[in-house]
Amino acid sequence: MTDQEMSEQRATQQKMIDPFGRSVDYLRVSVTDRCDFRCAYCMSEDMTFLPKSEVLSLEELERLCRTFIKLGVRKLRLTGGEPLVRRNVMWLFQELGRHLDSGALDELTVTTNGSQLSRHAADLYACGVRRINVSLDTLNRDKFLAITRWGKFDRVMAGIDAALDAGLAVKINAVAMRDFNEDELDRMIAWCGERGMDMTLIEAMPMGDIGQNRADQHLSLREVRQNLEQSWTLQPSDHQTGGPANYVTVAETGQRVGFITPLSHNFCESCNRVRLTCTGTLFMCLGQDDAADLRAPLRASADDDLLAQAIHAAIARKPKGHDFIIDRDADNPAVARHMSVTGG
Ligand code: SAM
Ligand code: SF4
Repeated sequence: MTDQEMSEQRATQQKMIDPFGRSVDYLRVSVTDRCDFRCAYCMSEDMTFLPKSEVLSLEELERLCRTFIKLGVRKLRLTGGEPLVRRNVMWLFQELGRHLDSGALDELTVTTNGSQLSRHAADLYACGVRRINVSLDTLNRDKFLAITRWGKFDRVMAGIDAALDAGLAVKINAVAMRDFNEDELDRMIAWCGERGMDMTLIEAMPMGDIGQNRADQHLSLREVRQNLEQSWTLQPSDHQTGGPANYVTVAETGQRVGFITPLSHNFCESCNRVRLTCTGTLFMCLGQDDAADLRAPLRASADDDLLAQAIHAAIARKPKGHDFIIDRDADNPAVARHMSVTGG
């Protein structure tokens, strides 16, 4: 075996450790950039999506995920766009679920807007999914329509019920927005508490042009937390999900509330994740533009050595952190791509 061949073979056996010593064991995969909603903070109403020819097949996505698992990924989250609108996506869940059975993977999960959950919840459970995130920013039907533009409130509610009935733990993700849902968060915490669901509050991040100034909607979670403390007893919790949220337990409901604060608190020190798009582009940081193309090495060779080398080369470029700012005078978003490209 030549030196070159030996180093290629080693690439598939090495775990992913970045230059700052952080071990990468969490992969988020955006399986489609398409969506059946047009949430105002996420997309513009007239979004153009990728031509289908640019999108990797489900088989290619499966091979990419399998390679990442070999390189040390223990947690996989499928997201989008709306992952559950991709045709045949349950095949991918099934294939990835096998790695749960073998013990190579600890967790397979999904972030969804809930619109397709009624028909998929039981199958997700059968594939080994145990926890899901459902994005829901309001319990008010009119506001729901205003923020999602195309969403169907009753369908999402039925989807959440179906998920709970199927035995899935549901966590509600809500983007906190000034003058939109800030007066509703108490009610949402109570509603989640009644249904045994945790909740995560997210600060809107400056990603992609959405046709309006984001500074108008920005609401600091520090302020939100202070307001919540007027109504609820928030006890510090050391709960960790492998994600960036800081959790508290709401004493009155027994459920957790997480705060994801990319703007007011830098959560990069413990970053263990990378993000793959449906075109095979790997983003090493949500808040930076640097990316690595994995489609070329994926297609160049039927075995995984070349791909593993490209992944290691990308991890070696993982930056220390992001530098999001929301600046009222800045016209441009901090990163040009929309959240639907990398899936959050
Ligand atoms: N369609 C699925 C959903 O909505 O759950 C998955 C993809 S969506 C891009 C993932 C998460 O990103 C959602 O919880 C959504 O609220 C959040 N998100 C989208 N754009 C965002 C932004 N600019 N800032 C903060 N969160 C955002
Ligand atoms: Fe679609 Fe999710 Fe973006 Fe809303 S947040 S437009 S549901 S991808």
